[in-house]
Amino acid sequence: MRFDIITIFPKIFSAKGGSYLSESILGRAQKNKLIEIKIHNLRDFSKDKHRKVDDRPYGGGPGMVMAIEPIIRAIKSIKIKNKSKIKVILFTPAGKQFNNKMAIDFSKKYDHLILICGRYEGIDARVKKVIYDLGFKIHEISIGPYVLTGGELPAMVLIDAVSRQIPGVLGKLESLEEKRQLGMLAYTRPEVFKWRGKKYLVPKILLSGHHKKIEEWRKK
Ligand code: SAM
Repeated sequence: MRFDIITIFPKIFSAKGGSYLSESILGRAQKNKLIEIKIHNLRDFSKDKHRKVDDRPYGGGPGMVMAIEPIIRAIKSIKIKNKSKIKVILFTPAGKQFNNKMAIDFSKKYDHLILICGRYEGIDARVKKVIYDLGFKIHEISIGPYVLTGGELPAMVLIDAVSRQIPGVLGKLESLEEKRQLGMLAYTRPEVFKWRGKKYLVPKILLSGHHKKIEEWRKK
């Protein structure tokens, strides 16, 4: 799976200094060539001498809007193999809320995701139409019911959730953990944790060695 991220803050993703994407499972998945992540600085596609990528909104209102041309030029610069296996994702708090089912779906249907990170008051609404006219599938996605300052964290969340679904990205042990229930209560040593005169115990059943009973307890 290839991910192309279009952003005005490429340093957020930079491997130098250890970005979220270069550590642990995602770092290993890149080394093993199971996923590839490319970052595009939107300012490189601005024709403005100050590399400006935003402008005032028509009709008035606060803030600035991300202009259409640099975004389209950035998308056009990306090497495309098969348009039917590509999805362009526009991050917006007004989009469809992302969930694990979508992550599974994306990992199965596509081999290339182009992620557009908004900033300021969002992106010129015509971007969506032009991308559609260029023949790409496009999806507006929200990462949750709150407003962030930019689409960079949503991009990282999506890459993480989609990558976990790609065969081989999770190691054997991690895959086993994945099969367990979501939100399962987990405990590790010490058996008794003493803190300020109080004892915090591991539930007795987990120390019993009765695997069937433990499974039943966990399901409950
Ligand atoms: N009023 C603007 C709107 O509704 O799009 C708010 C823009 S927000 C301050 C700036 C950018 O952050 C958005 O263009 C989007 O890319 C990103 N963003 C903010 N919250 C988000 C969320 N919950 N899910 C996905 N992207 C989000």
